Amino acid sequence: MTEPADLPIIVQKFGGTSVATTDRIERVADRVLRTQKAGYRVVVVVSAMGKSTDDLVTMAERITRRPGGREMDMLYTTGERVTMSLLAMAIAEEGGKARSFTGSQAGIITDDIHGKAKILRITPQRVLDCVNAGEIAIVAGFQGVSENTKDVTTLGRGGSDTTAVALAAALEADACEIYTDVDGVFSADPRIVPNARKLDRISAEEMLEMSAAGAGILQLRSVEFGRNHGVDIHVRSSFSQQPGTWVYAKEDEMEHAVIAGVAHDSSEAKATLRSIPDRPGVSAAIFSALADANVNVDMIVQNVSESAKTDMTFTFPESDRDTVERVLHPVAAALGSPGFEIEDRIGKVSLVGAGMKTNPGVAAKMFEALRDANINIQIISTSTIRVSVVIDEDDIDEAVRAIHAAFGLDGDQAVAVEGSRG
Ligand code: ADP
Ligand code: ASP
Ligand code: MG
Repeated sequence: MTEPADLPIIVQKFGGTSVATTDRIERVADRVLRTQKAGYRVVVVVSAMGKSTDDLVTMAERITRRPGGREMDMLYTTGERVTMSLLAMAIAEEGGKARSFTGSQAGIITDDIHGKAKILRITPQRVLDCVNAGEIAIVAGFQGVSENTKDVTTLGRGGSDTTAVALAAALEADACEIYTDVDGVFSADPRIVPNARKLDRISAEEMLEMSAAGAGILQLRSVEFGRNHGVDIHVRSSFSQQPGTWVYAKEDEMEHAVIAGVAHDSSEAKATLRSIPDRPGVSAAIFSALADANVNVDMIVQNVSESAKTDMTFTFPESDRDTVERVLHPVAAALGSPGFEIEDRIGKVSLVGAGMKTNPGVAAKMFEALRDANINIQIISTSTIRVSVVIDEDDIDEAVRAIHAAFGLDGDQAVAVEGSRG
């Protein structure tokens, strides 16, 4: 007889919509039990139910504007614990055996940056012992424990994806499946472009750019983990049996379409420091201060200087607005700047495709599509496989649709999207 310890390991992650109700949790129990019967050691990673993480944020905001990272993380991690224990009960109720683990119990060791901790390493012995004993291991997504402070940490919104891929790497799993509320990765967010196309496959290189550009379907860190550790990720619907999209860690043999897709992000804000000196060391002073405060700066533009003075504009996550203001006040004063402005009604739209490297004219065509839609561009930035523009927040949906159509990405089938996601 085959011992459980000889069976291949599969990691299956279920997002908020997939576990939004107790009925859906029972459906997940069915699915993971079927996977186990098919001959796998099953490790399940769960998100909080439905929109419950947002509800936790709302409650904290009712009490304070500055909840503090440590207590916010304590609060956040309760969401996933609700799901993991209910799922263990549902599996037991169907005659299976399951044990749930918090991130800390699963050996997910992180740094101590609350709200966006990075996984340093995973020591998954308890998870391994559990599946080797023939039980299903359920791990709470999006959380870990700090090596230094021993406090509970979270990995940033959408972080259960990263828990799943990191566990798959640590356990040398055969497969890593991300179950969600759409059929896979599409050429644009199906909520904005209903006739977007499902991609059968996408390279990790392109998926990294899509996620970094705001495609919330996979957290950026999860794609990085997959690429760095050779984990292929299968993104698929928890409401059907259809295959979804494979995100391949190695892309050597892949043939690329010129364009993979269009991504958008409305969660960024833009700061402009006025009239700062145009001399060596100024950028270093500004961006070192922001880096020390753990602010992830995205685009940076320095304007043409007049009489040795210039303006500096950069974008950053809107959620870091208070931090950016706190950091910029002394920096602006030290540089003799009259001050800075922050604008959060901006959005970023990006076109991503590995084929751009060898196809000139892609950026021009994108700008023409925006011109035809009468949309003004505030900032432009590019990488070898991405072109991004910052525009007015109100123009995002129209810009995504215009660019998607201009590159012939529209399919003929409208996509059904599940309503309540978390
Ligand atoms: P989960 O709770 O399962 O983690 P998320 O809400 O985090 O689900 O991610 C799924 C959502 O990502 C979809 O409902 C969709 O609106 C959004 N999305 C954004 N860009 C894309 C894309 N290119 N392809 C598919 N979905 C996308
Ligand atoms: N529940 C967390 C969130 O909503 C983590 C996740 O679902 O991936 O961001
Ligand atoms: Mg998600």
